[in-house]
Amino acid sequence: MRAVCWHGKHDVRVDEVADPQIVSMGDVIVKVALTCICGSDLHLYNGYVPTMKKGDIMGHEFVGEIIEVGSGVKRFHVGDRVIVPFPISCGVCWYCKHELWSLCDNSNPNSWMLEHLYGDTGGGIFGYSHMYGGFSGGQAEYVRVPFADVGLEKIPDGIPYEQVVLLTDIFPTGYQAADNCNINPGDTVAVWGCGPVGLMAMMSARHLGAERVIGIDRFPDRLQMAHSQCRAEVLNYEEVDVAEALQNMTGGRGPDSCIDAVGLEAVGTGIEGIYDSVKQTLRLENDRASALRQLTKACRKGGTLSIVGVYSGFIDKFPMGAIFAKGLTLHAGQAHVHKYLPHLVKLVAEQQLNPSSIITHRLPLEQAPGAYKTFLNKQDSCIKIVLNPQESARTARPGIEEAGAV
Ligand SMILES: [Zn+2]
Ligand SMILES: [Zn+2]
Repeated sequence: MRAVCWHGKHDVRVDEVADPQIVSMGDVIVKVALTCICGSDLHLYNGYVPTMKKGDIMGHEFVGEIIEVGSGVKRFHVGDRVIVPFPISCGVCWYCKHELWSLCDNSNPNSWMLEHLYGDTGGGIFGYSHMYGGFSGGQAEYVRVPFADVGLEKIPDGIPYEQVVLLTDIFPTGYQAADNCNINPGDTVAVWGCGPVGLMAMMSARHLGAERVIGIDRFPDRLQMAHSQCRAEVLNYEEVDVAEALQNMTGGRGPDSCIDAVGLEAVGTGIEGIYDSVKQTLRLENDRASALRQLTKACRKGGTLSIVGVYSGFIDKFPMGAIFAKGLTLHAGQAHVHKYLPHLVKLVAEQQLNPSSIITHRLPLEQAPGAYKTFLNKQDSCIKIVLNPQESARTARPGIEEAGAV
């Protein structure tokens, strides 16, 4: 089959690789209908996530059709159309039982790596380095999905793949970011980063009852999207002092909740931005804290910081004093996608929310190398790219034509 493989910094290629096989009785093989490039794939592309190996298959956002089931799979059959959550979860450990799905104790065969780095492991993730399990990703024609009975969500009849492909990651991730803000009627929620996750967080915050949503970015296309798709007020952080502007907009108090949808590659301004870039380049810190510092400064006393942008290690000049003095609550982590999926599928099916409205690019899988560049450089008004592995498939796997494609 063909798959998008990592070969090094700024080097992904569409390679011919071996088809995936059922390994464990709980596995299914999914024929990928659509797959996305995620902002967090750019951290791999830019070489910020350790333990990637040449030839690793990328991609953790994909939907498709089951073409083969392991002998232990009970809930699914060949021909089912499914949403695959990006975290892999066993369904029986303490964390899974407590709906902390992305923190699963059993799904990461390389758990020792994260234990060594962070003191404990996280669950496995498709296509996201060997420290997250070394699972092959979904930017491919086919993918092996373990623990199928636990993770997968059936796509209701009549709903096209494109409408649900963002439910594999960024919509639940944005929704959890907003959910963690415990939004009350009348609340103002500010969101740093108007990329795909930020947009989903804004859409969700609105849906969960925020009266005002404010999007912060520096790219006019993204700010425009936040305004048009999420009814957000917007601030360009290169044009205004964000903390000051937010205070002015909120009667001097600051937003009730601040969401960080930026993460470790935050682009700072002025001396502080240069300081972080130099330190990160010299490997004196892993992560750049520009966005985090702004969130902390801007948030009202007693408010909530909700962090969904990816951070990987140590960070410098972290404003712990302000967090303490202002009595802020801090939430962080990967989305517990399984917890939210049934509800979010219903919202999409009932047309209450339309996350796919932010998709700007639809390309065949073959064009992945160029698509990564476009997404990285935010060219061509690119917000979210969906790749279709079947559009230009050269090879057909025996038997799939009869599998009831929709
Ligand atoms: Zn993602
Ligand atoms: Zn588990």
